[in-house]
Amino acid sequence: MALARMGAGDFGTRDGGRMIRNPETHAARLAAARALVDTVLIPAEARMDAEDRLPDEARAALRAHGLFGISIPETHGGLGLTMEEEAELMLVLGRAAPGFRAVYALNSGGAAQILLRAGTEAQKRRWLPWLASGERIACFCLSEPGAGSDAAALATTARRDGDGWVLDGHKRWVTNAPEAGMLMVMARTGGEGARGISAFALDPATPGVHVLPDQPKMGMRSARVADILFEKARIPADALVGAEGEGLKLALAGLDKVRLHLAALSAGLMERLIEEGRAHALRRTQFGRPLAEQPAIMALLADSAAEALAARCMALELARARDEGRLRPAEAAAAKLFATEALGRVADRVLQAHGGEGYMQGSAVERLYRDARVLRILDGTSEIQRLVVARGLLSA
Ligand SMILES: Cc1cc2nc3c(=O)[nH]c(=O)nc-3n(C[C@H](O)[C@H](O)[C@H](O)COP(=O)(O)OP(=O)(O)OC[C@H]3O[C@@H](n4cnc5c(N)ncnc54)[C@H](O)[C@@H]3O)c2cc1C
Repeated sequence: MALARMGAGDFGTRDGGRMIRNPETHAARLAAARALVDTVLIPAEARMDAEDRLPDEARAALRAHGLFGISIPETHGGLGLTMEEEAELMLVLGRAAPGFRAVYALNSGGAAQILLRAGTEAQKRRWLPWLASGERIACFCLSEPGAGSDAAALATTARRDGDGWVLDGHKRWVTNAPEAGMLMVMARTGGEGARGISAFALDPATPGVHVLPDQPKMGMRSARVADILFEKARIPADALVGAEGEGLKLALAGLDKVRLHLAALSAGLMERLIEEGRAHALRRTQFGRPLAEQPAIMALLADSAAEALAARCMALELARARDEGRLRPAEAAAAKLFATEALGRVADRVLQAHGGEGYMQGSAVERLYRDARVLRILDGTSEIQRLVVARGLLSA
């Protein structure tokens, strides 16, 4: 069994809900991640794309490696990685088609980061061990039909009622919704705009919470997406996380981390695409010589390698800056912008270097090209990253 070969305990071992960190070096963790990518995730890619599901053995491997809790502190059952360690891990895991990532990343990303920043001890104790172990899958419910890039326009309401709250509204394209075990919902409790929004952590089994059917997507399959309707969903008073009116601030506060995570992931995916392009260029012969000897194909690969290297360096340097408390939001936005746009160019070039083979369904490059596209839209589109970068520049 692949998992046994790679050593399931290389990231740590689980004692009940608590992850016990092994004394091995970070290098051993990265080696285990490489093995996970090569023996479990890459072999499962075609199946994940066809079935739009994370296979049980891949999910078990992600849990065994503690990935659901990468940035949740060890005291709450996670691995408690630094941003630099997390970026290094994403560079490795980025080599696999990224659909699997969404299944674990929201647990230690959006949902857990809000609880860590503003949750009460009781809220942390209730949710974080589940999230860190992957026993429950988290969803981050911000976007709505009328509120995408302009999240402050959201219309879902949370109305005080007796000793609790009543939720009404429509959340759109919620990743992991079909298998949700915890919802972090942004809802309007006060007036208009960003200051009227609060965060709530709740159980999706609450009456009045309806998860709609899966939405088919172009790529990133196995990260299932669906809308969620709230119809007079009654939740307890202690579902509110942080103070009333702080919700959007809390949601946006975690974005620097998410953006660096995606920059590193995109650099890893570029490296994978370049490997695919290199292998094809060496294998395929036209006009009596390998494509690898055609200057035009060499240039495609060289431009791609240069951009992948730049994205790698940006992600690592800015991850260190975040650990040292000197990261500026515009820098995280610049890294996400550059890496995801460069990934689009690299995917396009590598597909071109494959000729018709790259366009045909079933080739890895065709799948990765579709997967890569959404990274320029998620967690702030490229246009929104440009606004953040420009504002940082102009206000300095
Ligand atoms: C696969 C997938 C999974 C998702 N998962 C989640 C999830 O789990 N939780 C969640 O809350 N949301 C999720 N989303 C929603 C995602 O966050 C939004 O799609 C994203 O924020 C963009 O919003 P929008 O799609 O409504 O586009 P819009 O905001 O309508 O933007 C359309 C276009 O206009 C541009 N634009 C908008 N405003 C400006 C401006 N001021 N200046 C310049 N250009 C502008 C945008 O960049 C874009 O190119 C998911 C989306 C997808 C596709």
